[in-house]
Amino acid sequence: MRILVSACLLGLSCRYDGASKPRDEILALKERHELIPVCPEQLGGLPTPRIPAERQGSRVVTKAGADVTEQYRKGAEEALKLCRLFDCDCAVLKERSPSCGCDGIYDGSFSGTLTEGRGVTAELLGEAGIPVYGESRIEEL
Ligand code: SF4
Repeated sequence: MRILVSACLLGLSCRYDGASKPRDEILALKERHELIPVCPEQLGGLPTPRIPAERQGSRVVTKAGADVTEQYRKGAEEALKLCRLFDCDCAVLKERSPSCGCDGIYDGSFSGTLTEGRGVTAELLGEAGIPVYGESRIEEL
């Protein structure tokens, strides 16, 4: 399969804090699949490092109070473009991210509280019919 993957899970230092979140089991997917790395927040024009943000309903707001909804939307659209360009069969995305989160995200209070919902990119990919898996669900691939 060809799989769109959150770039931070493959070791790219694209997270808001300038770090990565590599997972051996995600990297091991390349033995059997073709992986296409993507960081929607960078594709949306946000800098790295950047102020963390969370979804507040349909908006995305940074911890400093800036509305970055447009950048998150643009990043999601660019990620979907890449997904289609490479004919990806599915996506494996970083859980809890306001972009990539798929089975629950932070609730917008910056208190570490989780709520139901998806990040902006996971939501758009799902609406486009792309199966989306969090990094803890790759055994379902
Ligand atoms: Fe990782 Fe996605 Fe956040 Fe980029 S937007 S750092 S790929 S979780």
